[in-house]
Amino acid sequence: MDRPRITIFDTTLRDGEQSPGCSMNVQEKLRLAQQLDRLGVDVIEAGFPIASDGDFEAVRRISASVRRPIIAGLARACTGDVDRAWQALQGAAHPRIHIFLATSDIHLKYKLRITREQCLEQARNAVRHAKSLCADVEFSPEDATRTDVAFLCQVVEAVIEAGATTVNIPDTVGYSMPEEYGQLIRTLREKVAGIDKVVISTHCHNDLGLAVANSLAGVQNGARQVECTINGIGERAGNASLEEIVMAMRVRPDRYGYETGVASEHLFSSSQMLAEITRVPVQPNKAIIGRNAFAHEAGIHQDGMLKNPLTYEIMTPQSVGVPDSRLVLGKHSGRHALALRCEQLGHQFERRDLDEIYRRFVVLADRIKKVQDSHLLELIQDVSSGMASNCESSGGHSRKFPPATASLSLPRAASAAAGINSSEGHGAHVAGSAGQAQVTIPFSDHHSEQEDYLWGV
Ligand SMILES: [Zn+2]
Repeated sequence: MDRPRITIFDTTLRDGEQSPGCSMNVQEKLRLAQQLDRLGVDVIEAGFPIASDGDFEAVRRISASVRRPIIAGLARACTGDVDRAWQALQGAAHPRIHIFLATSDIHLKYKLRITREQCLEQARNAVRHAKSLCADVEFSPEDATRTDVAFLCQVVEAVIEAGATTVNIPDTVGYSMPEEYGQLIRTLREKVAGIDKVVISTHCHNDLGLAVANSLAGVQNGARQVECTINGIGERAGNASLEEIVMAMRVRPDRYGYETGVASEHLFSSSQMLAEITRVPVQPNKAIIGRNAFAHEAGIHQDGMLKNPLTYEIMTPQSVGVPDSRLVLGKHSGRHALALRCEQLGHQFERRDLDEIYRRFVVLADRIKKVQDSHLLELIQDVSSGMASNCESSGGHSRKFPPATASLSLPRAASAAAGINSSEGHGAHVAGSAGQAQVTIPFSDHHSEQEDYLWGV
């Protein structure tokens, strides 16, 4: 079957990073970019180079070291911004300049203080200039969903003529309804000359909790790129959540017959890595990667799960990379099992660093018998901070191990004991392998201190 391919444009490092409490340093951005590469996203928006030296440096470093995906740098519609973005993107294997300019009357009048004619001219000039530097140019008419539709069509047509290759339609303030957003994409396809030569993109905010629904409506009406973030982080209520977009298409190909290049088994580790770096927790009931996303507590659900997992499960935990917690880490666990669990938690190590982690792990396992993910994360953090700066570590923070989590394990269907404890290489079972999963509270106490979260309410 030949399904249309949807370009996954990840803006965790740009729009996501702009949100309160989510700022990251260059090193952290680089680490996350490498994870996004592993995850298989098509485009990484690495930052807004003119915004700060740190952003510039992050885009430059990511361009130099992450070679498979397109690396995008954001710029306002002016020469200085575009030049700065291009400078940062110089070393990229696949650079993209992403220009934005507000087009709604309210933004033109109060924020930019320019007329529609001036807006049109500025957009055209900026795209033309970017195109003289870089073949891949994206344009976003900011606040598109509150822009007069006839004027929006005019702007889109002008930037296509000037050389834009992707046109992104942001619902900047999260105001649209799905059918309305879908209709807007359809209107652009019907009315704008040359639109079939470019990729139409969605960029939806979640102020009304509709970012994913709006993005999917956009796709159904012809958009072929979706801008989204890990854990749905982003300005205010956030962006469309990458994991939800990807899994909606994967679980319901009958309704959304599209492909993405995302390796869904890396979703959980990506989410974990971001939460750990930003220290912004994931709400427990967050779809796909929340702590409770695969937990079953009600008796009637457990009963159903025992008889047949399909009674309550539309996808397996393994398909999104939730670690197989039958693989209990203890002092008899080998280095391979440890490396695998570290990877599932979003950390990959060189041999030498792994040796050090393993050494400390064995000491810890001797003491506490069952090493939880949270313990492991603490240990990794201690070792990593020791690697980063030998002088200021150790005594710096004295977090204690959080309490152990309850973990409910129910063997699946008839083959109750099959596969359990069989070998330590067992962590990586992929979606669809029936009879494989069990009901677990998928991740450990990593989040326990965040029980009373206020985020995402
Ligand atoms: Zn945004």
